[in-house]
Amino acid sequence: MTDLSWGDTPSNQSPPFVGVNLFTSDRGLREAVEREGAGRAAANLELFGGATGSATAAELGRFANTYPPQLQNFDAKGRRIDHVEFHPAYHEIMAVSTAQGLNCSTWEHLLTDGVPKAGAHPARAAGCYMAAQMEPGHCCPITMTHASVAALRHTPILADKWLPKILSRIYDPDVAPVDLKDSVTLGMGMTERQGGTDVRANTTRAEPCADGTYAITGHKWFLSAPMSDGFLVLGQAKDGLSCFLLPRLKPDGELNGIRVVRLKDKLGNRSNASSEVEFDGAQGFLVGDEGRGIPTIIDMVTLTRLDCAVSSAGLMRQAMARAIHHTRHRSAFQKLLIDQPLMARVLADMALDVEAATALVFRLARAFDGSTEGEVAYQRVMTPVIKYWVCKTAPNLVYEAMECMGGNGYVEDDGFPLLYREVPVNAIWEGSGNVMCLDLLRVLERSPETVRRVVEEIDTVGARDTRLKAALDRIETLLAQVMRDHGLARSLVEQLALAQAAALLLAHAPEAVSDAFLATRLEGQWRSTYGTGANKMDVREILDRAAPEIPV
Ligand SMILES: Cc1cc2nc3c(=O)[nH]c(=O)nc-3n(C[C@H](O)[C@H](O)[C@H](O)COP(=O)(O)OP(=O)(O)OC[C@H]3O[C@@H](n4cnc5c(N)ncnc54)[C@H](O)[C@@H]3O)c2cc1C
Repeated sequence: MTDLSWGDTPSNQSPPFVGVNLFTSDRGLREAVEREGAGRAAANLELFGGATGSATAAELGRFANTYPPQLQNFDAKGRRIDHVEFHPAYHEIMAVSTAQGLNCSTWEHLLTDGVPKAGAHPARAAGCYMAAQMEPGHCCPITMTHASVAALRHTPILADKWLPKILSRIYDPDVAPVDLKDSVTLGMGMTERQGGTDVRANTTRAEPCADGTYAITGHKWFLSAPMSDGFLVLGQAKDGLSCFLLPRLKPDGELNGIRVVRLKDKLGNRSNASSEVEFDGAQGFLVGDEGRGIPTIIDMVTLTRLDCAVSSAGLMRQAMARAIHHTRHRSAFQKLLIDQPLMARVLADMALDVEAATALVFRLARAFDGSTEGEVAYQRVMTPVIKYWVCKTAPNLVYEAMECMGGNGYVEDDGFPLLYREVPVNAIWEGSGNVMCLDLLRVLERSPETVRRVVEEIDTVGARDTRLKAALDRIETLLAQVMRDHGLARSLVEQLALAQAAALLLAHAPEAVSDAFLATRLEGQWRSTYGTGANKMDVREILDRAAPEIPV
């Protein structure tokens, strides 16, 4: 029948991709959670998957991004308030992720028996993977709040005061002094106008006060989530660059000398506020030792890097799942798009990267659980490697998925442009691509045996596959050259990521997936777009596994 009237059920259009349980519909995710030690959390994750994939959550996400935060510098009487106003949908989303414990779950043992729970990091990573699909912008304050504990622990007196408020699953958006709040969120300020990567060039000054606190004066060029209750900030003290905790408000409720100059007008990440701020003698509490600012804040930064990779993997999954969903319902030339050989090849090729990204981020999350030498080495070496590869692979994949959707993918109503605008940010903040490479070079310089240990772990599988063995040989060659030519570091990082992904897929994925991944990513003809470079591939099996497990 000819489809003439607007408003009737349109023919040949895919149904909305909502009401999809993001956990039960995602086989790769379920397997990764089980494999990496978080199987006990499956029932809880199923509930969270239902909430994050619901039609309500999709609406909240749309509102939070359609009506982005607004800065109000002054109240009606001209008093400085620097209040950031959000759409109520944003607060609802924050409450959903906070109730899941994404702001705190891996630290909760600190307030109970002190024994870390096995599988805590992979279980939280699974939550973050789904929360990013629900609405990615709010993950920034959630991530920073969770990660801040790693820095605050350097100063027990501060941890004693702040941890009970951070380790709460009740979201409290009130603007009030910390003591009066049920829970708090934290932000982080390192980047200044003259440089974000080279934080040693920070110009913000910290002058000691008689009461043992510091007066912080200067600026930050990027400070996300300026409505947070406190900020971990780098500033120059007498003994060098140091880390300080700046509460947003003083105990009497007055502003603590932190002026929000303006909000950034960003490409994406719209629901999240990012700002430029000035500090005018703000009261700061020293975290860690004076002059040890970078080592103090680096544990926090490392945790945020894990979250960037997890969130990008989640966005990849969401984009691919939507593309498969659409092409399963849309026909062209008398055939469903997914049955057109060219389209099927493109989708299957994308599915390989989603499999790899998921396997990598959950393996990395498990390393954060562990305290053995091997796991600590893995965490140190593979955090920059995996952040680099996953965050860099995601934008191209999301773009290709958008193309699979045709014109609908380019239109705001469908929500796809939100994914596309969001996805590059994870590669830029918390250490951009080259910075991840420099980080690996630092490990190689200081403790090459740490890298060797991780390569050996990959090698235990590699010996069984000639393609992986060849990749490991390439890694050996790069390792021998890279300290003389730092320009090779990207090649090394990429080869390490691909080899580790290949090893994980060989060990845990069906042969159709691992074989196609190795054939296209570790050998074969040069490829620059999805759907090329794959001479033979069991497209059907790869797609059956990747497709969201929902009724068609
Ligand atoms: C949306 C958003 C929110 C943000 N929120 C925060 C926040 O809350 N807190 C915060 O502190 N920062 C935040 N940032 C800042 C972010 O962390 C920085 O933009 C980032 O660290 C890069 O710093 P930069 O912009 O000064 O670039 P630069 O340091 O000038 O770097 C520019 C480029 O040069 C590369 N580069 C630098 N050094 C080298 C080298 N030696 N060799 C090779 N290449 C090099 C970098 O990789 C980068 O690609 C945010 C950024 C964005 C986009």
